[in-house]
Amino acid sequence: MRLKYQRVIDGNMEYAAIAETYRKVESTTKRLEMTDYLVELFKNTPSEILDKVIYLTQGKLYPDYMGIELGLAEKLAIKALSRTTGIRESQINELLKKHGDLGLVAEDVIKKKKQMTLFSFEEEKSLTVEKVYENFDKIARAEGEGSQEKKIQYLAELLNLATPLEAKYIIRTVEGKLRLGIADMTILDALSIAYGGSKELRSLVERAYNIHPDLGYIAKKLAEEGIEGVKGIKIQLGIPIRAMLAERLSSLEEILAKMGGKAAFEYKYDGMRIQAHVSEDNIWLYSRRLENLTSQFPDVVKAIKSAFKGREGIFDGEAVPVDVNTGELLPFQVVSHRRGRKYGIEKAMEEYPVVLFLFDILYLDGEDLTMKPYPERRRLLEEVIEESEKVKFATRIVSEDIEEIRRFFNKAIEDGCEGLVAKNIGDESIYRAGAREFLWIKYKREYKVEIGDTVDLVVVGAFAGKGKRRGTYGALLMAAYNPEKDRFETVCKLGSGFTDEQLAYLPKKFESLCIPERHPRVWSEIDADYWFVPQVVLEVIGAEITLSPTHTCARDVIEKGSGLAIRFPRFTGRWRDDKSPEEATTTKELVEMYKNQIKKIG
Ligand code: ATP
Repeated sequence: MRLKYQRVIDGNMEYAAIAETYRKVESTTKRLEMTDYLVELFKNTPSEILDKVIYLTQGKLYPDYMGIELGLAEKLAIKALSRTTGIRESQINELLKKHGDLGLVAEDVIKKKKQMTLFSFEEEKSLTVEKVYENFDKIARAEGEGSQEKKIQYLAELLNLATPLEAKYIIRTVEGKLRLGIADMTILDALSIAYGGSKELRSLVERAYNIHPDLGYIAKKLAEEGIEGVKGIKIQLGIPIRAMLAERLSSLEEILAKMGGKAAFEYKYDGMRIQAHVSEDNIWLYSRRLENLTSQFPDVVKAIKSAFKGREGIFDGEAVPVDVNTGELLPFQVVSHRRGRKYGIEKAMEEYPVVLFLFDILYLDGEDLTMKPYPERRRLLEEVIEESEKVKFATRIVSEDIEEIRRFFNKAIEDGCEGLVAKNIGDESIYRAGAREFLWIKYKREYKVEIGDTVDLVVVGAFAGKGKRRGTYGALLMAAYNPEKDRFETVCKLGSGFTDEQLAYLPKKFESLCIPERHPRVWSEIDADYWFVPQVVLEVIGAEITLSPTHTCARDVIEKGSGLAIRFPRFTGRWRDDKSPEEATTTKELVEMYKNQIKKIG
């Protein structure tokens, strides 16, 4: 008779022990109880396979950053189940409709099969953790021709040996739907208890996890080398570090007070967080959730390689697509289709080049920098990175002057950022991997001003094209009309919405209006490459109106020192030849639009 948790003679462990733990974990919602069940499981697990048991408990085979995922298509799992039990696929599909969970169906049909066979459970060969893991691994890695059939076979082999309870969890795991609700922190708790239970151990285990987020690796170290093994876990190139996060406060005054009266304020870029690991012959890019992004951003890989002057480094930053012609930061969605896409990356890179704005360095030439204060890390960052078109430092100021900070915030919004991240500059300002604390505080704008209507703007200048637009204009400088002052005040750079033909024709169209200097009726603080007599009116649609320290439209009306700007302006295709420049949208109208269309950001 087989005992629960009994190990098979050759040192293997029965999968039944895991299945039984899952069953118990599923029966409770209390974290402490869950932890107890896990402690029991870990204590009963031979150290050689502790890592596998941990990954399986998380419903995976490896830490996420390795990118090897289980996730067998349901129809293949149904085929395997049908093959094992002799029950027709159509019948399994019927049962699936009823239960809504193929795991439950598997439990049900395997039970029926067992009842029908002559053998009893006791006499059967039992399923080991190794065997389950090995077949899952083969399923996850099978590729190419004939791989579907192989996957079905590997799964059927497991189901043939499985008890009904095991079959339920095998199916859920292989489909990537185990979802026991065991948080990583619960596993860390369970490990600390199983291996001694001291507070010191708990915090060491957590620190190790934050800089080397591989629970299987940590568990094995702990089981084989004890607390000293965990102390020895260091930052390693190629293994992502859990990202430091920011707290939030709703006023700059509060932030400044919390930071002790002075702090660094950096643009809060609205892109995708990227942690870049650079060694002499390799580069890895990781997302905030520690997924491996390297193959999706070959342009970033290349850019960081040539910008870095050291040997080995780990950098933290935000990747943001940029319109090369207007300099405007674009919403990340324009490149998000790169993710998970193997083809067409070259084209996407050309259309929407991404700039990596670096704000931290965590490791340099063998040295862990996370315990150094932020000002020193920033200094080192600036020392070892040479800025380029594609790799830049996060724009920042260090200030104690609330008005200066407010102006900087407005500029950040105008430049397409979400707000600012304030950073502590004291001795305590270490890089707290995985933590959300007040060493970093984000300050986001609370509302946006949406433009519900199109506006008619006057072309007052233009900028030379870059990239694909070399030889024509990259963007036009657009202005609204101020009737009181009888002048044209700039409000945006317009670069999108034009067809290729229109773009090519622009220089010719404006040839006769070209003047060597800014027209006296144009008020601009931006230096255009070409200036025009204000005459041509275009219809433009924009996403929102922001306060702007650079554009002159309605300067000082809403806020001292700020004008208004239109973000993401787009030519609608309509040349307003029927309108004279004095009939264009007025600065006053834009002020009204600004006031009327304030929308809270959630
Ligand atoms: P949010 O949705 O506000 O970005 P979050 O939970 O993703 O919130 P937080 O830690 O709260 O992340 O806010 C900081 C985030 O802002 C970082 O994860 C990073 O992606 C982004 N970011 C942009 N610029 C900076 C910067 N200069 N310094 C730090 N983080 C920055």
